[in-house]
Amino acid sequence: MIIRFLGTHNAESKNTRLVSFLIDDVLAVDAGSLVSELTFPEQRKIKAILLSHGHYDHIRAVPAFAFSNSDRTTKVIATPKTLEILSSHLIDGVVYPKFTSEASFLRKATLQLVPVELFNRQNIEGYEVMAVPMRHPLNGVGFEITSGDGKTLFYTGDTGPGLSSVWGNISPQLIIADVTWPNSLANAAKDAGHLCPEMLKEELIELRRVNGYLPKVAVIHVSPEHEPEIEREVREVAKLLGTSIDIAHEGDELIL
Ligand SMILES: [Zn+2]
Ligand SMILES: [Zn+2]
Repeated sequence: MIIRFLGTHNAESKNTRLVSFLIDDVLAVDAGSLVSELTFPEQRKIKAILLSHGHYDHIRAVPAFAFSNSDRTTKVIATPKTLEILSSHLIDGVVYPKFTSEASFLRKATLQLVPVELFNRQNIEGYEVMAVPMRHPLNGVGFEITSGDGKTLFYTGDTGPGLSSVWGNISPQLIIADVTWPNSLANAAKDAGHLCPEMLKEELIELRRVNGYLPKVAVIHVSPEHEPEIEREVREVAKLLGTSIDIAHEGDELIL
């Protein structure tokens, strides 16, 4: 399994992109920066887009992707609530065409919205995908994704602390985790449904207690303004727990 990070931040600039990553070039996970980071031939390889929740920074490239890839149908996989937000606010026939409708000017449906049920393992383009409820507004979910050769990652999506009930349901080799702010902003993180390094530490200790091991961790959704502080604090957590925790950057590739 090859994971390619397209966007790893919570704010966009010339050097930072909103959250999105690819699995083996065919599955896209979240759509903060899907089109700006990929050539048209690279976009054409994508068969399905998984969305963790309906916040703008995770769904906003879906209409632009549909517009550039209107010669075929791409699946969009998410909870019914996320699909409803997407259809009523972005691909609503006002801001952009209803890409799911044959009545749009494109004369064909270019997106197929596929609802997921929580804890139900579903085959998506040869990958087993399971959505798990996380601690975030709009009923945000995380995804456990297993490839045909048995490699498994878990993406938290956006989440706050309190994940002990999640860990017993998953057994990944890699966790891609939201760490948005440094420890000095722990209260803001808790209020907004995000993690800081200290909270990540507590969650990983709980994960090790429940599952008996610690997977590798890649940190994502980082606030650019606070990145040096987050990086220092994450390094301390990694040292303390004796595991590998890296901050993911745009363009990074990870092989599982
Ligand atoms: Zn969010
Ligand atoms: Zn977000």
